[in-house]
Amino acid sequence: MKYVSTRGEAPSLDFAEVTLAGLASDGGLYVPESWPQFSLEEIEAMRGLPYAELAARVMEPFVGDCLSSEALRVLTAKAYGRFAHKAVTPLVQLDEQHWVLELFHGPTLAFKDVALQMLGLLFEEFLAREEGSLTIVGATSGDTGSAAIDAVAGLDNVEIFMLHPKGRVSDVQRRQMTTVRAPNVHNIAIEGSFDDAQAMVKRIFADRDVTAKHRIGAVNSINWARLMAQVVYYFAASLQLGGPERKLAFSVPTGNFGDVFAGHVAARMGLPIEQLIVATNVNDILHRALSKGDYSTGTVTPTAAPSMDIQVSSNFERLLFDVGGRDGAALAGQMSDFDAKKAMQLTNAQREGASALFTSARADEGDTAQAMRWAYDQCGELLDPHTAIGLHAARAAGIDAAIPVVTLATAHPAKFPDAVERATGIRPGLPARVGDLFSREESFVELPGTYEAVRDHILGNAA
Ligand SMILES: *Cc1c(COP(=O)(O)O)cnc(C)c1O
Repeated sequence: MKYVSTRGEAPSLDFAEVTLAGLASDGGLYVPESWPQFSLEEIEAMRGLPYAELAARVMEPFVGDCLSSEALRVLTAKAYGRFAHKAVTPLVQLDEQHWVLELFHGPTLAFKDVALQMLGLLFEEFLAREEGSLTIVGATSGDTGSAAIDAVAGLDNVEIFMLHPKGRVSDVQRRQMTTVRAPNVHNIAIEGSFDDAQAMVKRIFADRDVTAKHRIGAVNSINWARLMAQVVYYFAASLQLGGPERKLAFSVPTGNFGDVFAGHVAARMGLPIEQLIVATNVNDILHRALSKGDYSTGTVTPTAAPSMDIQVSSNFERLLFDVGGRDGAALAGQMSDFDAKKAMQLTNAQREGASALFTSARADEGDTAQAMRWAYDQCGELLDPHTAIGLHAARAAGIDAAIPVVTLATAHPAKFPDAVERATGIRPGLPARVGDLFSREESFVELPGTYEAVRDHILGNAA
């Protein structure tokens, strides 16, 4: 399997190279040259498999000959063995039509663990082959940071610099990053929003002063391997609810468009999906793009769902590439126009291509709290604010009553105890696996929101 850049200029790479490269050298994102296909019989044959084996089957065509079948299975068994639930991503039914897919049973309580536990192992495997080292630079709206740090803390040949927007992540989220004491972990709080942090990370990849000295790696969902690992649970949910014979709809709390793009990939691979519902909070650029073709940024408004307080969704570029004719040169032009004006219109082909599978809905803070109350009153389920946005969108989408709708539960409610308590009166407790989070000492540096400050800090502290 070869991977090509959405902007058409960077060299095509194999799976091992694409995992270590992160962002393409032309500023684009890597996608598979073509989509592997499963027949309905092949999908049916996956029913009942343990999650780690299902993961290996779904990932195999993307990995190509970069890992043997046995080596891949060793990694999936190790990655998913760390989850606190045997099913890894269990489904919970809310009513006749609605389910939630609990993706938060990993070590740091958000769905990011599903992909990052795997990615950490892939880094280790591929770096060992060439005796190389990797300097990871990442930006987090809250959950990627802790999941990535957990996945790589203590590794010998990997170092991680993680930027979070100062004061804009929850206490639990921040402590899950800053209380990990390992010499290869560097936490940075910067002034500004997640979008500012993400833009700096993209600049680091293009900065020859940095890349001449260090091999820079990515843990954000710009890294293809993350999306690959997320495709698996769409298959897992479908197989449990009557797929592939029966179609399902999925509602996905969306920020950087990685998780929902993995649903698009599952559909491209042959999994019958009725609809993908892109759920946003009031930071609704994606809702405007999908409903009106208007992809223009506003200012970021902080909400109870900080991991979705994003205006620029990196992975949306992958969708525009895939549904817009896979024309790298045209997309490069469109994206550079967007960078200059902070706004662009989707082409007709992109709009039509996207609307075949995607719909969208937006939840304000009142809708979010109401969805949390509904789930608690109706079914005794406590949902985190991100998942609640997904549920609001799922119930608003008007999906035919015969089609099951699965909302992806992207975080454990205890990650956002204040918002959950405000809405339901119940304060969710942290599961035992996160330990004594509130008595451990924190360690992070604070930097102004300028690119130079971040670059100099990385150059001064990287081994
Ligand atoms: C990261 C995150 C999201 C958004 O996922 P994307 O892949 O960036 O769209 C939603 N909810 C939670 C809890 C998250 O951590």
